[in-house]
Amino acid sequence: MQGQPTEQSDLFIIGGGINGCGIARDAVGRGYSVTLAEMNDLASATSSASTKLFHGGLRYLEYFEFRLVHEALAEREVLLRAMPHIAWPMRFVLPYHPSMRFETDTPTSKLLSTVMPWMKGRRPAWLIRLGLFMYDHLDLGKRKILPGTARLDLTTAPEGAPLDDRFETAYEYSDAWVQDSRLVVLNARDAQARGARIMTRTKVLSAAREDGLWRIEVQDTDTGTTATHHARMLVNAGGPWVGDIIHDKVHLNVREGVRLVRGSHIVTRKLYDHDKCYFFQGTDGRIIFAIPYERDFTLIGTTDAEHTDPDQKPVCTPEEQSYLIAFANRYFKRDIRDEDVVWTYSGVRPLYDDGASSATAATRDYTIKVEGAGGAPMLNVFGGKITTYRRLAESALDKIDGALGRSTQKWTAGAAMPGGDFPVDGVAALISDLRASHPFLDDRWATRLVRTYGTDARDILGMSAGAEALGEAFGATLTAAEVDWLMDREYARTPDDVLWRRTKLGLSMPEAGLARLEDYMTARRAPG
Ligand SMILES: Cc1cc2nc3c(=O)[nH]c(=O)nc-3n(C[C@H](O)[C@H](O)[C@H](O)COP(=O)(O)OP(=O)(O)OC[C@H]3O[C@@H](n4cnc5c(N)ncnc54)[C@H](O)[C@@H]3O)c2cc1C
Repeated sequence: MQGQPTEQSDLFIIGGGINGCGIARDAVGRGYSVTLAEMNDLASATSSASTKLFHGGLRYLEYFEFRLVHEALAEREVLLRAMPHIAWPMRFVLPYHPSMRFETDTPTSKLLSTVMPWMKGRRPAWLIRLGLFMYDHLDLGKRKILPGTARLDLTTAPEGAPLDDRFETAYEYSDAWVQDSRLVVLNARDAQARGARIMTRTKVLSAAREDGLWRIEVQDTDTGTTATHHARMLVNAGGPWVGDIIHDKVHLNVREGVRLVRGSHIVTRKLYDHDKCYFFQGTDGRIIFAIPYERDFTLIGTTDAEHTDPDQKPVCTPEEQSYLIAFANRYFKRDIRDEDVVWTYSGVRPLYDDGASSATAATRDYTIKVEGAGGAPMLNVFGGKITTYRRLAESALDKIDGALGRSTQKWTAGAAMPGGDFPVDGVAALISDLRASHPFLDDRWATRLVRTYGTDARDILGMSAGAEALGEAFGATLTAAEVDWLMDREYARTPDDVLWRRTKLGLSMPEAGLARLEDYMTARRAPG
């Protein structure tokens, strides 16, 4: 197919995960012209496969990752206020038992085995209390919404009921939940609303410096058509492909590397009735979470496994599934079995390679490097968390300003995401307003719409007086009006985009509905 010349931008961003879309939004809001290319759907790689927590990372304290934990803790409430529809506070219950062990190569475990060798790698209760004290205070007073740590008597508290009787005490602390793939799409939408060009299903084939600019060749992965773009600066936010882009698409000799660590989750039907999460410590020094998920389910994860090739689609292996089941079964009274697992998903962490010996120990902090400042610069992003994406974007913009000789101002801290322009405690009011204006919605449907679209839910429903006005109903409360909105406003092209990334209705969509959705979307995409 013939290449088509296109316009020039200040920044060309490779990758439509959280880091690429976060940088695009921040940059366009500061007056840069921005083009972003994502080779699949937005958030189709790591950014839809996370545990979905805005968290400080309690376990990172054992690795002395104080910079990361401080930044992430302080960031939680900034993010909650900007997107009260797709993110909300969560309480985590951490049952304590003296048999819990450290991973052997954490700095804390090494220190403790020197000064208290008789502990033999066990995690003492005072250390957990110390860690939680630091977790409550390392944000230096930024925590206003999230309640602090508390102690629970599991023999009487309802949170003890689903757990094995040997767990008598627990500690409870706060973090937050976020719908990760929606966060990515909302960043992309906001970036586009401010003038960015967002191209999905567009793969970067190569990029080379030419007359002080970048010349970038891209291909539409649906049609095979190629096109050429020019930019003053290239941003590599390729996640697991960051090394592939450096070495195979741009042919650069860059020292930094990425370490790919797969993490898998399993989803079961709801295992317990309350709305808190569990933080389980294993006998191998690792931890996993059990989290209430999409109203009817429980999410359990994650694992840490080396993954060598970014092009190899990550899946939850039978060994990983057995590991997670056995881990959770050491805590829950009821036995979870393979038949209870209704879905699994897996993602690859693109971690900065800091030479750590184990996948669990590799740093979760990010590193941003600019290469070739002075000519046509390139910025490479290594590592990062969903939680720190906005701060990562701010750091990237500092470097972009430096490389392009501009001085711009931070602006994203107080800026609401699309649909999130309402008070942080305003979800219940929004749900009841929506039900009042559209009485055909039941609580479940209205809650889903508000938790997915926030104030944009009104636009999707329009003036509809009854459910039939929303067009074809595919099942699980998905209607043609919502699908149209997702195709027109949120870059959705396929049923997978709608059912697994814009929503999680794939968990409850009947087979017949799926087939009709496929037909509907194909017909709507057809030209003419
Ligand atoms: C199991 C697991 C659990 C996690 N849990 C949490 C958590 O609870 N909280 C938290 O804060 N963080 C968590 N993380 C970390 C977080 O998910 C990642 O750090 C983050 O999603 C990385 O985003 P990214 O944009 O760098 O990468 P990605 O989301 O992978 O995006 C990179 C994009 O680049 C695109 N791309 C690559 N090459 C090209 C090309 N040539 N042309 C065009 N596009 C290209 C890819 O298609 C991809 O979509 C978790 C990660 C994993 C794996």
